[in-house]
Amino acid sequence: MIPGGRRGQLRRLLWPVPHYPVLSLANTGMLALGHPCPGLPSPPVRSAAERREQLKAVYEEARECVHCPLHQTRTNVVFGAGNADADLMFIGEAPGANEDRLGLPFVGQAGKLLDKLLGEIGLERKEVWICNVLKCRPPDNRDPHPNEIEACQEYLRRQVDLIEPTVICTLGNFSTKLLRADSTGISRLHGRDEIRVIGPRAVRLYPLYHPAAALYTPSMLEALRTDFHRLPELLALGPPVQPHRFDPIPELEDADSVLGEDTPGEFEPEPAAQLGLF
Ligand code: URA
Repeated sequence: MIPGGRRGQLRRLLWPVPHYPVLSLANTGMLALGHPCPGLPSPPVRSAAERREQLKAVYEEARECVHCPLHQTRTNVVFGAGNADADLMFIGEAPGANEDRLGLPFVGQAGKLLDKLLGEIGLERKEVWICNVLKCRPPDNRDPHPNEIEACQEYLRRQVDLIEPTVICTLGNFSTKLLRADSTGISRLHGRDEIRVIGPRAVRLYPLYHPAAALYTPSMLEALRTDFHRLPELLALGPPVQPHRFDPIPELEDADSVLGEDTPGEFEPEPAAQLGLF
């Protein structure tokens, strides 16, 4: 029997850093600093070019992925797009019809809003990394299922590890609940930054309303814009102090237990021009 039951098993499966101790800091929002362990390997120092190459390798792997039933209905794997060395990462929910067709994230109306908000803070899409919790489209744009989230998490973990973002904006409930390992909904959390350890990295986690939801609710759009305009300030803080490789890693909740509150509604995406993948 594996200690920690299915949750422990899930954590090992998805966030495998073999020489980390098992102790968890989940949900404390705290970052503990550790001490070097003589005799154990040091963390690798990787150049941006090396990390980019490794990210490409993960992409190639994801393109062949058959870990959940969504591979049967997808047209393209929507791995993510943008700057492979971005300080700022956005994580949405799952590809829709147009994303599936083009193989790129956020190419519909929600993506246009994201582009507009980025423009308002002096950034372009190509300067940030944009991806989703799920890399394949759920049929009829239904909500992601827990088994799909579970099967896909490792790709997201590796993206965070390789891109090394300073700030991660979770867009809406699914990514917020997954990365915080907690079922608190986005309406309570949006605009509240906190330091979280995601896989081996400490990041500034910054939950935002999902742009698709904001498209239809003026008050959400206003909140999203206000929150968005704080991003330059957060980015200027730089990366949080990183945990030592031998520090504890946070425990991921079982996907079933973190889903369920307000999720963005359906929306009609529009085709957009093909964008370069990293
Ligand atoms: N497009 C995406 O790529 N992800 C979403 O969550 C919504 C639209």
